[in-house]
Amino acid sequence: MRVLSSIEALRAALAAAKAKGGTVGFVPTMGYLHAGHMELVSRARAENETVVASIFVNPLQFGPTEDLSRYPRDLERDRAMLETAGVDILFAPGVEDMYPRPMKTVVDVPELGCELEGAVRPGHFAGVATVVNKLFNIVQPRNAYFGEKDYQQVVIIKQMVDDLALPVRVVSVPTVRDADGLALSSRNVYLSEEERRAAVVVPRALDEAERLVAQGLTDPQVLEEKLVGFISREPLAKPEVVAVRDASTLQAIAKIEDPVVVALFVRVGTTKLLDNRVIAKKTMSGTGEAR
Ligand code: AMP
Repeated sequence: MRVLSSIEALRAALAAAKAKGGTVGFVPTMGYLHAGHMELVSRARAENETVVASIFVNPLQFGPTEDLSRYPRDLERDRAMLETAGVDILFAPGVEDMYPRPMKTVVDVPELGCELEGAVRPGHFAGVATVVNKLFNIVQPRNAYFGEKDYQQVVIIKQMVDDLALPVRVVSVPTVRDADGLALSSRNVYLSEEERRAAVVVPRALDEAERLVAQGLTDPQVLEEKLVGFISREPLAKPEVVAVRDASTLQAIAKIEDPVVVALFVRVGTTKLLDNRVIAKKTMSGTGEAR
C-alpha cells in the first residue's frame, strides 16, 4: 500500500493505476478506524480494481467550539488496518496539502444541510460537501463508499453528485454496530464506562420508534415526543435532535407514511452520538428488518 500526502503524488500514483484499467473505489474517512470504516473498505475492495482510502480530519466541517483538536488520531494503526484490508493507496494529506491557501469556494446543499444535525451544527454540511467534492476531484473515483450511519451526509452527497453531474456512483453501506446495538463511531472512545452503558439508549430508542410505528402510530410529532421521553429517562443522555422526517427530502411530514427516517443526535456526557433508522412500509406492517 502506498501512503501519500500530496495531491500531486496521489495524482501520479492514480494515473499509473488507471492506466492498468478497471475502476477506482474511494473510501473517505477522518481516521481512527473501526469495523464500520472497514466494512466500507471491504465493499470497495470487492467492487474495484484500485482502492483508495483517505484520512483527513477536515477543519471546514468543525464549528469553533467542536472537537477538532481533540479528535482521536492514530495514523500508524489505521495504516496497518488498511494495508491488511488490501487498500492500494492511502491518501493522508495535512491541512496544508488540502488547503494551502484559505478556501474561497464553498459547495453547499443548504436546503438539506440546514436540517437535523445541520440545525445544531451550522456550516457543518457545507464543510463536508466542500471537502468531499475536492476529494472527488483529486481521486476521480468511479465508486465512493459512505456509511448509512451518517444518513444526512449520504443524502447530501447524493444530491450534490446529482446536481453537479459528478461522474461518481455513491454507494451507501449499512451501519456496523456493537453487540448491544450502539453504532460504531470513532467518537465512542470519548465515553466513560458509565456513559458507554448509558449510550445504548440511542439504538434502543430506534427500536422503540420502530415498535411504535409497527403498532400503528402515524403522528410524527407524537412519535418525536415519545422518543424524547424515552431517551430522557436515561439521566446521562440529552436528546438534541429527535426528528421523524421524509427519508428522501429530510423535510417534516404531516403523517408517517413510507418511508421515514428517524434521526437522533444525542449527547452523552460531552460526546455526541448520531444514529438513525429508516422505517419503511414493510416494517410498518410488522415484518421488521433485522438490524
Ligand atoms: P468518519 O471517519 O466518521 O468521517 O466516517 C467515514 C465514513 O465511515 C463515513 O462514510 C461514515 O458514515 C462511515 N461510518 C462511520 N461509522 C460507521 C459505522 N458504524 N458503520 C458503517 N459506516 C460507518
